[in-house]
Amino acid sequence: MLGTPSVFIRTSGCNLRCVWCDTPYTSWKPEGNDWSIEKILRQIEGYPSRHVVITGGEPLLAPGIETLTYRLKNSGAHITIETAATIFKNVTCDLASVSPKLSNSTPWRKANGRFAKMHESRRLNYAVVQKFIDTYDYQLKFVVDQKKDFTEIQELLGNLNNVDRARVLIMAQGKTRKQLRAKARWIVESCKQAGFGYTPRLHIELFGNRPGT
Ligand code: SF4
Repeated sequence: MLGTPSVFIRTSGCNLRCVWCDTPYTSWKPEGNDWSIEKILRQIEGYPSRHVVITGGEPLLAPGIETLTYRLKNSGAHITIETAATIFKNVTCDLASVSPKLSNSTPWRKANGRFAKMHESRRLNYAVVQKFIDTYDYQLKFVVDQKKDFTEIQELLGNLNNVDRARVLIMAQGKTRKQLRAKARWIVESCKQAGFGYTPRLHIELFGNRPGT
């Protein structure tokens, strides 16, 4: 839940290349060092919060992710895992924060478009999204850039079963406070009409867009 003090585990590596990716150090140009599961668990123990958010990149690509989530749960953690839901793994979690990518994410004009076809072929896997919905307590989160994105979301939801619309959250696309605020009002109005929730990018409001936040 927004505002809950949480420890973040950010894995590096992603099978998508969203044009507006706000963590390119985990996707377009992955960085970081290998950490053992033991080292991660020890580090987590040093924080007072029991809420752990596992994000990326795409955390389901990380070797040992099933073991890590299982052991975290056994240690008493409340686990949220954030995924684009292009692949499925039997992780242990209290909340699956599922963020299927809309067509606004495809990098047709970035890097001479060389990742566009790969991204486009992977970004939406209905069977996997459905499996997350059917398996876990979930929320569905969409990054919206333009008003027409709401039409795309409605079409997408029409291809899924048993979606609780109260669990659909909309986030503005933007990397600065100015960009986010410019979109917030019309997105909120569209959310009210559709029955979706609006979620701000609190970390950008508080800290700006920088690694470690
Ligand atoms: S899925 Fe997430 S980490 Fe991967 S490219 Fe898209 S925004 Fe970046």
